[in-house]
Amino acid sequence: MKDTTQILRAKGLKVTPQRIAIYTMLSHTDEHPNAETIYRSLEPTNPTLSLATVYKTLDFFKTSGLVQELNVGEASSRYDAIVTRHPHAVCTCCGKVVDLPADAFEELRHRACQLTDFSLESEQLIFYGKCPKCKNQT
Ligand code: ZN
Ligand code: MN
Repeated sequence: MKDTTQILRAKGLKVTPQRIAIYTMLSHTDEHPNAETIYRSLEPTNPTLSLATVYKTLDFFKTSGLVQELNVGEASSRYDAIVTRHPHAVCTCCGKVVDLPADAFEELRHRACQLTDFSLESEQLIFYGKCPKCKNQT
């Protein structure tokens, strides 16, 4: 895996310690954190970091195609360092967001084309329910 500095440079972004910290964190988690969660996890080791910087940086990353923003119906967006489109499952109990393989719903895409006669370019597919942990707690 390429290191974060190289990845940022390849996108023409100025490399700063805070940008490195944010991208490194996002590319090493599958939790789809929001800006606040990212801020809280990095703040102890980056005392000069502000929440505003996290928002601004995520915006830069999004524009550069380094991360994708994910709206799962919460007040704040989640962020994903996997930028290829893929479906997600969201726990309505604890907010856990899980990746699903992109090719698992080819049939559905094909069917949507047939039904609409559209030339479809993308889709957002989110399943809602209770994660394994939460469903066993009730
Ligand atoms: Zn859950
Ligand atoms: Mn994802």
